[in-house]
Amino acid sequence: MTTILPECDIPIPQRRPHIVCHEPGNIILPMCNIQTVPGDMTERGCTFAGCRGVVGGPVKDVIQLVHGPIGCAYYTWGTRRNLSDVKLHRKYCFSTDLTEESVIYGGAKKLLKSIIEAHELFPEAKAVFVYSTCVVGLIGDDTEAICKQAQEKIGIPVVPFHCEGFRGVSQSLGHHIANRTLFEKVVGTKEPETTTPYDMCIIGEFNIDGDAWIVKPLFERMGVRVLSVFTGNASYADLPPMHRAKLNIVQCQRSSTYIAKMIQDKYNIPYINVSLFGMKQTAEALRDVGKFFHLEENADKVIAEELAKYQKNIDYYRKRLEGKKCFIYQGAPRAWHWIEPMRELGIETILTATTFGHKDDYEKIMSKAKPGHICIDNPNALEIEEYLVKLRPDFFIGGLKEKYLTYKLGIPFINGHSYEEGPYAGFEGFVNFARDIDVAVNSPVWKFINKPLEVS
Ligand code: SF4
Repeated sequence: MTTILPECDIPIPQRRPHIVCHEPGNIILPMCNIQTVPGDMTERGCTFAGCRGVVGGPVKDVIQLVHGPIGCAYYTWGTRRNLSDVKLHRKYCFSTDLTEESVIYGGAKKLLKSIIEAHELFPEAKAVFVYSTCVVGLIGDDTEAICKQAQEKIGIPVVPFHCEGFRGVSQSLGHHIANRTLFEKVVGTKEPETTTPYDMCIIGEFNIDGDAWIVKPLFERMGVRVLSVFTGNASYADLPPMHRAKLNIVQCQRSSTYIAKMIQDKYNIPYINVSLFGMKQTAEALRDVGKFFHLEENADKVIAEELAKYQKNIDYYRKRLEGKKCFIYQGAPRAWHWIEPMRELGIETILTATTFGHKDDYEKIMSKAKPGHICIDNPNALEIEEYLVKLRPDFFIGGLKEKYLTYKLGIPFINGHSYEEGPYAGFEGFVNFARDIDVAVNSPVWKFINKPLEVS
């Protein structure tokens, strides 16, 4: 038997199949992508959060309008460091602010008025994205018709996303809805000004703390033209020509494989999965792209230049981190993206967890894990605490929700969602990642902690 029921979960035995231990010859995957059991303090977000917060939100020059009560709009501002060179999507929060009156009489008029008003205030915006939240699904506003009417009035695209929070079991469905909406309503609506035989889109790269600014030039130096990044630092105008790429590469394979598959099915454009974290995985991605475009020599040249510049830093940090053990808890893909890069630093990941992983995410984790590795689907706060206390990793890569719990237990922490001092992708980014781990783990502050807090 390789499933585990931690002590904190004795009142909710349904958690047992979600927690597994890697056992060679008897690999089973955690149960996943199902509704959270009532009473389980899950850390999941809602469908709207996945649609707006992950995939649609990084598009930098559109009005990101939340059609719903003001509380949902929390997810529109400052929650994720999707950097851009235009600040509209991060600086301003747009909401129709639905109230009881709208629930009774409908929110259609308010939506139309809000789109027009936002466009008057920000005429530089290139489109309006309208995200429906729970209330809108319940009162049944015809957002498609209103957006069409608004589009005719203001003369720029108005795109409705039907991402009511109660749909699906986690934010994961929101990613899918955003992919499908952008594919159906935006991709293919305009041709690129020019095309080349080396056009490629980077899909599932959200420019967290500048990741896209590190990885995009690597491919450009090889001679590839990056037609679009979906959706980190993307302009609205970058999305319609995605159907003219010769190849798509997919970095976040949970949130964005959907659109790569839809483009492949409709336009016959192939895609390949890549991992742009760590020296080895990034080099492998460049080689795969080089092979596709017959630019192998160019890829090798870029890799050699990058290694000459940065490998010595990685060797330095490896000496300081060798033998350490870590936990990784991420939305999903970064949990498995980072297992191999940690090994490049001499670090073994002893526990991984994901908030909304699907079967393929757990297959990837298990294919990289070593015997005894614990894997948790959709952990609750008490499980995280119990495993931190029992296994005491040398550090924990998680998100902000776990940061202060980890510190209180006297364990170093790295923010893997928005990073400490990123970017973390690519060769140069991996040096930043290694440096941040070193700063966290080898900080003198830990010497002053005589006794970590006991947990009763
Ligand atoms: S669950 Fe519904 S009400 Fe809550 S934030 Fe998400 S969309 Fe808004």
